[in-house]
Amino acid sequence: MSFSSLLLGDKLQRVIAQKGYQQPTAIQAEAIPAILAGQDIMASAQTGTGKTAAFTLPLLQRLLDKAVDASLSNKQPTALILAPTRELAVQVNANVGQYAANSDISSVVIYGGVSIDAQATKLRAGCDIVVATPGRLLDHLRRGSLNLSSIDYLVFDEADRMLDMGFMDEISAILKQLPAKRQTLLFSATFSPAIYDLSKKLLHKPVRIEV
Ligand code: AMP
Repeated sequence: MSFSSLLLGDKLQRVIAQKGYQQPTAIQAEAIPAILAGQDIMASAQTGTGKTAAFTLPLLQRLLDKAVDASLSNKQPTALILAPTRELAVQVNANVGQYAANSDISSVVIYGGVSIDAQATKLRAGCDIVVATPGRLLDHLRRGSLNLSSIDYLVFDEADRMLDMGFMDEISAILKQLPAKRQTLLFSATFSPAIYDLSKKLLHKPVRIEV
């Protein structure tokens, strides 16, 4: 299996080549075609398997296919990536930035423990992708610094850790503000009964991927 058979466009193929990736990892080989086809996915994947690129690359391709307009100011985000911790959110956002380097796609990362105002200013300026921890995202929603009504893509990274950290109430409140018609991608290292319950609420006919 090669990246060239994965239906990612030239812009992303160039980034992949620059990164020196020779071939997709197992999760990428399964997840990328399913995500490009518009399917929900439920994937079990540990850190180090290449899971971040497994959702970021096809997500960027789908946004590129919609001809993102960089000149549009105050644009509302169309993709939301939820992560349990500040460290993971920052890391995912750094990956998004690297993979989106040849494009006009922009992202903003928001997490707790730092001033909310600077984040609100960035959000108000507009972006395509928001990477967020659940608690701080909810703070922004309550303050009105972010509107999720244009979200087409929702990603849960390390969903099991999000539940372990007690974020279920925040997740439920966030879900209420998202359009029902969207593509949802759930990644989790483990699959507990609580994750299955969440996936039943979130996912529509998901493709199951285990690596
Ligand atoms: P992750 O599991 O998303 O934390 O990724 C682990 C590491 O694998 C990161 O440093 C990525 O840059 C790297 N990586 C992701 N996909 C590939 C690939 N197809 N080939 C080689 N390295 C990769």
